[in-house]
Amino acid sequence: MKTYVVMLAGGRGERMNAPVNKVLLRIGGIPVVIRSMEAFSAYADEMVIVTRPVDREEIMSEASSRSFPFPFRFADGGETRQASVLNGLRALCPDPDGIVLIHDAARCLVDPELISRVILSVKENGSGIPGIPATNTCKICGPDGYVLQTPERSSLFEIQTPQGFSAGLILDAEERAAAEGFLGTDDACVLEHYGYAVKVVPGSSANIKLTEPGDMVRARMLLEGDGMDMRIGMGYDVHRLTPHRKLILCGVEIPFELGLHGHSDADVALHALMDAMLGACALGDIGSHFPDTEERYRGISSAMLLRETVRILADAGFRVHNADLTIVAQKPKILPYIPLMTANIAAELGIPQSSVSVKATTTEKLGFEGRMEGISAYAVCTVTES
Ligand code: MG
Repeated sequence: MKTYVVMLAGGRGERMNAPVNKVLLRIGGIPVVIRSMEAFSAYADEMVIVTRPVDREEIMSEASSRSFPFPFRFADGGETRQASVLNGLRALCPDPDGIVLIHDAARCLVDPELISRVILSVKENGSGIPGIPATNTCKICGPDGYVLQTPERSSLFEIQTPQGFSAGLILDAEERAAAEGFLGTDDACVLEHYGYAVKVVPGSSANIKLTEPGDMVRARMLLEGDGMDMRIGMGYDVHRLTPHRKLILCGVEIPFELGLHGHSDADVALHALMDAMLGACALGDIGSHFPDTEERYRGISSAMLLRETVRILADAGFRVHNADLTIVAQKPKILPYIPLMTANIAAELGIPQSSVSVKATTTEKLGFEGRMEGISAYAVCTVTES
């Protein structure tokens, strides 16, 4: 029995105050729609992503950089949710004996147990929709705002997705509704209208629909437990000491008879810092972003590269929280320059100087640093979602 997933990703994000479709917003660096797709990895045999044509390319490029264990295709969103679902169903052409799961891509926190419950219910009852008992008293009001009726709270459920149906049932109901112009508020509503039984299974309070900006904060808290997606990165770099070169460390030019050899200004400390930043976000390393084979990086100030690295992190939704560097050099004395180094880094990262630490050590004349053949640097930083 095949399981088909209709992923509704056609939102506009108006209530989210976002310039893009809300399902393209990132949580922990991963777009909401991709998180939703991943949630169905263990269940889906085929998936259709129903979205506006304008968003298709971005979803496609995000999705193709990952490997999903199921094939997926796209369908265009319609004027109504029901029209979107029908477009998705038509694109899938499901086997009538199969199972169709219809899911709001904005519910990216859906858990595997919930999906299992829905599927089991479809197998047993022909349908399964997740619901949580209403916690607030609900009133039915007239247009004048006066209460007409207070339904018994224990019989009220808030309904979530995925809503699951026997493929034959949902196809029949959706095609008939389209032909007759019946519009329901959810997918189950269409089945109910044509007299099919719809079964509610336990939903989950964590299965929230991302609708308003506060929901993004809540989703991050639910994902991370403590509300802080803290990542740690480390970086290490070495450059050779050589005559006729400037010695630049953390953007500060230090008078010395030797300087560091390299394609850029060879600021070994900032290189270690940038690798720590990129590493914290799993975004590669400075070699992949600023190849030393490229002429445009010859002699470039590493402070410029740091500025670019900050931008790369920001684009992926991250910012540095604090940084700690250790420069390993037998000579010259670094200590007098540390306040200036700290200020440089803090300014580029846009964080307080109290969040930046630069330290220096010798190696008691041991090793390459001790023999003054080179200078090395270590950096650790923490990164949070911006
Ligand atoms: Mg380097």
